[in-house]
Amino acid sequence: MDRKLLKLPFRKENSPDWVCPTCNKGILRIKEGTFHEAELRNSREAHSHEAWEPEWINYVYTCMLVCSNDKCKEIVVGSGTGSVDWDIVEDENGVPDQVYEDYFRPKHFEPHLRLIHIPDDCPETVTSLLNESFKLFFSSPSAAANNVRAAIEELLTELNIKRFSTSNGKRRFINLHQRIGLLPPKYAPFKDMILAIKWLGNAGSHGHSEVTMDDVMDAYELTEHILQEIYEPKLKKLKAIAKKVNKKKGPAK
Ligand SMILES: [Zn+2]
Repeated sequence: MDRKLLKLPFRKENSPDWVCPTCNKGILRIKEGTFHEAELRNSREAHSHEAWEPEWINYVYTCMLVCSNDKCKEIVVGSGTGSVDWDIVEDENGVPDQVYEDYFRPKHFEPHLRLIHIPDDCPETVTSLLNESFKLFFSSPSAAANNVRAAIEELLTELNIKRFSTSNGKRRFINLHQRIGLLPPKYAPFKDMILAIKWLGNAGSHGHSEVTMDDVMDAYELTEHILQEIYEPKLKKLKAIAKKVNKKKGPAK
């Protein structure tokens, strides 16, 4: 996961290499002539203030992005916010000069980006919540973290970890923390990781602390690893190939 690509603001002449959500191979490039930014009303009106500086500027933008893969050419709409920041640039005589530049932050993509690899065999209940999280990642990291937590709850259900206990004929919810404890030994390596996703998700839902994009990316990386190990285990696949070849004592058909 390229964290800088996802979290740093960009300049419209040099947009990040966002990967196409449809073919997963091409890079999304801003379609010429489609990037439009405009100043918000408060920002426009502030120009008349005596202390006004370019850093006060606030933009919104929209653009069309096109996948660079000739076989795909998917179209994605991007929108977000922008501001002005300064940088020191040397002129042709090597004299440092302060220049102002526009910087933009994406808030929405439609269709949304796919921020981690989800194995094909991953249950739909888990996948759909992760997709929901990807939609929210740029605009609301805390809501995105909350959805990863919800996806992990669904994963435990898919792994047959019970959700209720019954005592005296009453059904009681088993909380996520206790459910993690019920994971059978083969999933033991994931317990700490799932617990970490839970804490990040909790922070997202209770608003006790601000959830950053890095926090959500932590949750994504943990989730990606867990799903890969459960639904697309490399070691298991490689062992099966070795077994097949060794049995034939040559290339296996
Ligand atoms: Zn594409």
